[in-house]
Amino acid sequence: MKMSKLFVQTLREFPSDAEVISHKMLVRAGYIRKLTSGVYNYLPLMWRVLKKIENIVREEMDAAGAQELLMPFVQPKELWEESGRWEVYGKELMRLRDRHNREMCLGPTHEEIITSIARDGLKSYKQLPVNLYQIQSKFRDEVRPRFGLLRGREFIMKDAYSFDMTQEGLEKEYENMAQAYTKIFKRCGLNTKMVQSDSGAIGGSVSHEFMVITDTDAGENDVFYCDSCDYSANSNHAISKLPEGAKIIGDWKNAQIVDTPETHSIEELCDFLKIPATLIVKTLVYIVDKKPVLALIRGDKQVEETKLMNAVGGSDIRIATAGEIEEMMALNGFEAEKGFIGPKGLKEYNGYEITVVADETVKDLKNFVIGINQKDKHGVGYNWGKEVNLPQIVTDIRLAEAGELCPQCGKPLKVTRGIEVGNIFQLGTKYSKPMNAVYLDQNGKAQPYIMGCYGIGISRTAAAAVEAHYDEHGIKWPLAIAPYHVIVIPVSTKDEEQMRVANDIYITLKKHGAEVVIDDRDERAGVKFKDADLIGFPYQIIVGKSISEGNVEFKTRETDEKTAMKPEEAAEIVITAIHNLK
Ligand code: ATP
Ligand code: MG
Repeated sequence: MKMSKLFVQTLREFPSDAEVISHKMLVRAGYIRKLTSGVYNYLPLMWRVLKKIENIVREEMDAAGAQELLMPFVQPKELWEESGRWEVYGKELMRLRDRHNREMCLGPTHEEIITSIARDGLKSYKQLPVNLYQIQSKFRDEVRPRFGLLRGREFIMKDAYSFDMTQEGLEKEYENMAQAYTKIFKRCGLNTKMVQSDSGAIGGSVSHEFMVITDTDAGENDVFYCDSCDYSANSNHAISKLPEGAKIIGDWKNAQIVDTPETHSIEELCDFLKIPATLIVKTLVYIVDKKPVLALIRGDKQVEETKLMNAVGGSDIRIATAGEIEEMMALNGFEAEKGFIGPKGLKEYNGYEITVVADETVKDLKNFVIGINQKDKHGVGYNWGKEVNLPQIVTDIRLAEAGELCPQCGKPLKVTRGIEVGNIFQLGTKYSKPMNAVYLDQNGKAQPYIMGCYGIGISRTAAAAVEAHYDEHGIKWPLAIAPYHVIVIPVSTKDEEQMRVANDIYITLKKHGAEVVIDDRDERAGVKFKDADLIGFPYQIIVGKSISEGNVEFKTRETDEKTAMKPEEAAEIVITAIHNLK
């Protein structure tokens, strides 16, 4: 490919609306162009990268025994009603109507469709197990499309679905996929961590995510991990043990109500009462799918909202507004505001009974402090079963913190940021049961399939690779997913000798299967070098003045090291590196 013909336009500046490195770099280096919010054109360079990732995914999925198919992007409402998700999938599901007023949606994921395919085609135990996958564009009307390809509304995903007869069969396939994923990301030049995670809206019980660890804002997930053992988990799932020694028994001899004026925060209350936060039962008001939920947790700890939502069952959670709290108080005969709320006497709101969930941290507190729904007052020296009852639901709803102890080995946990590039779920019968997707077993009895599903964000993986491989001058693509392996740069196109040597190298490289660009533009050398760095060719072969001594300069973008060598040697290094990719 000649640079003069390559469809690419690099920009002088980073785009002003981009927050993270991969978004900035991919726009500036001419890989993507925004069409509308969260929707991007993949220009030729980008498309080459995406196809490479797709091919690696394909090779490893096929090698793992999965079979590729392609399902439609538009899906009918009826199947989503069968699974029950038409109602519960929120606004991310892009719904539309056809000319006959039939309701449809743009596929955000394909459990319903694949399950309908399976129930039509997999009727006997003799056909199982099976794993089917596709690589396709998905659409999700994300609340906050941002970060370019990392969180788009339209994005490319590989989604695979397995059908087994037993839980053991599913677990074996799950492990098979975990191994395939590890190979895929390694081949893409990415270091990933496989972490335990919450199963979320897709459902099921066991799931893991593959995270690219990054210390930048692009990592939307907090990952807790232990250096002493293999424990690692997304913050929405991480559990930790608390170090001992916290003061959890108050000094009050008797329970009493005391004045605590203007203590709206835990800090203010601690200052006023001269106690540590560990003696306070903090009460937070949440709305889960319209229903009121109170969360009780020790004053020094934070609630993990996904855990709380799972504890009560729901698909959407948010903290209540001041107005809602006021209404809730009035409805139950109180006048308190934030800072003074407590579980006692709160019965209903919004037409629902109020559910109270206590975190395990409050269970062992004695002579504690708690809100009693009276403004500027708190109960102190309170105890469960005496002044106030321990709620029926006591479970872990706490956000882990770095420094707390590993649940497996007891050593301090660490935290880092991660980009989720793939995940694997054990779905069980979550879709097969409601959709009546069954096969006949050895005894001729109908049984629902035991399913698993396995996703990889193809476009997100490309962006994550940029987050992991760049410097201030541009991208440093890993060789396996670079749009081209190498660029040959004649410093002066007017110099016949330079052009002759550059062309020779170009032809040799092409002949040996290298994907190569020659920068034939009549541009200043500085412009060519800048573009080569920005676009991120893994190798650059620079043909300049030293050709009079028979040498070219060979640059490896990963290290930016330059070495003078014979043209044949430079070509040889590239050809060997490509050969070793396989
Ligand atoms: P997230 O928590 O980041 O929203 P998810 O749990 O919704 O991801 P899945 O529904 O399991 O993700 O999708 C499988 C894969 O698709 C993810 O691991 C991720 O790599 C990718 N993916 C999901 N949402 C997006 C998006 N909005 N833009 C780009 N890639 C995405
Ligand atoms: Mg999502």
